[in-house]
Amino acid sequence: MAEIKFVKADKLKEKVDVSTIGFGTHFTDYMFRMDYNPQEGWHGASIVPYEEVKVSPANTTLHYGQAIFEGCKAYVTKEGKPVLFRGKDHIARLNRSAKILDIPQLPEDVAYEGLIKLLAIEKDWIPNGPGQSLYIRPFVYATDPFLGVSVSQTYTFLIILSPVAAYYAHGFAPVKIMVEDKYSRACHGGLGAAKTPANYAASLHAGLVAHEKGYDQVLWTDAAEHKWIGEVGSMNILFKIDGKIVTPELDGTILDGITRRTVLRIAREWGYEVEERKISVDELLEAHKSGKLEEVFGSGTAAVISPVGELICGTENPVHMVLNDGKIGPFAQKMYDYIDQLHTCETEDKYGFVEPIE
Ligand SMILES: *Cc1c(COP(=O)(O)O)cnc(C)c1O
Repeated sequence: MAEIKFVKADKLKEKVDVSTIGFGTHFTDYMFRMDYNPQEGWHGASIVPYEEVKVSPANTTLHYGQAIFEGCKAYVTKEGKPVLFRGKDHIARLNRSAKILDIPQLPEDVAYEGLIKLLAIEKDWIPNGPGQSLYIRPFVYATDPFLGVSVSQTYTFLIILSPVAAYYAHGFAPVKIMVEDKYSRACHGGLGAAKTPANYAASLHAGLVAHEKGYDQVLWTDAAEHKWIGEVGSMNILFKIDGKIVTPELDGTILDGITRRTVLRIAREWGYEVEERKISVDELLEAHKSGKLEEVFGSGTAAVISPVGELICGTENPVHMVLNDGKIGPFAQKMYDYIDQLHTCETEDKYGFVEPIE
């Protein structure tokens, strides 16, 4: 196991009341760092004070976007123990994204050990109110100071931590989502399966347009025909159709969400039939018409479960599919409650999702 250096901060910050701050606005005292060059490989694993990082104005990430990231969460259990939710799966996905972006594979054991050590040092930053957590952002970016277009030779890996409030502090607020029929985010052969900034850059304008129309987010459809359902920018999408749980298959254009995996695993455990397959916009319109589209919800680390109250299809004469009178459906509610209890070990974790921090 690599030696992880620890550089102590001169002064620690005041802890914040997370119920008064927005998502991702405050950061803890320390971060984990590791660097890469071809001579040494990944090296210099250390926990250092949270501080600004220096980059060259010619930094290749700034110009060409060769970067990847993760997002996971740590919680405090009812007994006051700090725990991490599916951290190993998130580190493994970081390496799958690395492959897609030609970033050298991270030593997963060192990255994971660094994360656990960092969390042990920062455990007092994990808020313990209902639904509150410490959001973890591991990321890798290219650091070559070079304007030529090529795969970078050097990289930096950082893990930063941000205390966050419950996403739905005042009860669920089901979202209105526009089924996108003009813009595209990812295509076959593209970067959709990687957690990488490019997918977000490609989604910002369409998101803004949807906002201007009064909708919360965009549900991406396939780039070629706008016929097949993909995912919502930062969440996977799931449907309850005629009693079955249905979600788009992992076809390379959407992210293999860890929350998606969690939901599908639990749904199967509960005895639901689960289908990962192609779903067309027409199928949804048909299912809604015949009363078989029972629930729609997103899954992602930030909100865990995000109920969809309304799906809007088409721009000329839009069809508004209202779901459950715009309220959260019983399946999504039950799933949210169960995962919420798993996070804090209020229910037995028979899946091995919860990882101890110390
Ligand atoms: C992070 C992310 C998700 C959700 O993944 P989780 O692992 O469940 O947090 C879904 N789609 C995209 C594009 C993402 O970046």
